[in-house]
Amino acid sequence: MNDVKKVPDVVIKRLPRYYRYLGDLLNQDIKRISSGALSLRMHVTASQIRQDFNYFGGFGQQGYGYNVEFLYNEIGKILGLDEGDSTIIVGAGNLGRALACHSGFERRGFRLVGIFDSNPDVIGTEIAGLQVLDICYLEDFLSKIKVDIGILTVPKAAVQKIAERIVKCGVKGLLNFSYAELNLSQDVAVENVHISDPMMTLSYRIRRIGNEQ
Ligand code: NAD
Repeated sequence: MNDVKKVPDVVIKRLPRYYRYLGDLLNQDIKRISSGALSLRMHVTASQIRQDFNYFGGFGQQGYGYNVEFLYNEIGKILGLDEGDSTIIVGAGNLGRALACHSGFERRGFRLVGIFDSNPDVIGTEIAGLQVLDICYLEDFLSKIKVDIGILTVPKAAVQKIAERIVKCGVKGLLNFSYAELNLSQDVAVENVHISDPMMTLSYRIRRIGNEQ
């Protein structure tokens, strides 16, 4: 764990992509791959791949390539995917429902254990096999069930208070979809997701297609 803390954030952010590509290679029954071949598939330089992997001891022998299954498992361990994380979703609206029904989370080891909302019309409805619980039971629930990650899909105005309540119960990670910056203590890991960011990047890029070398 201490080793992982020293690794730059940008490298950590690249690990899920390596993990996905390696998973695809495994599905294609590819057992060994060089950093050069991996770089061609992933459109990053081979030296970047080697540099990234060096933070974790290198993972492979020079000139012999990486053992795909070993590398996939090791990166999974670094990300904690081998242990699995339990999650809750707060805000069972359009986005919360879509995320709850996304099977990809479960495949990556993220187990959804609770969904909360404050709207009486929504409380008690079933999503992804779980009954939506009244937000007033949040603390009670978290005192009984260990939760690693809270997914926040409530409106902006509600998110800070909800985040504080979750964190107070010992949850260490928040995936924040609301467009508000959270103000929390340093020992909580927060990832903000803005789906419109890549859309804006795309908007920039499509205007430059054909105009740049
Ligand atoms: P929505 O209105 O469909 O759902 C919000 C849900 O939160 C509702 O069911 C509401 O009852 C519930 N809620 C409100 N206050 C609550 C509280 N105090 N406790 C518990 N539940 C509460 O909205 P949506 O379209 O699902 O979007 C949810 C949030 O995500 C919004 O803040 C929206 O701006 C944001 N959003 C972000 C992205 C992104 O890319 N980050 C994309 C879409 C939406």
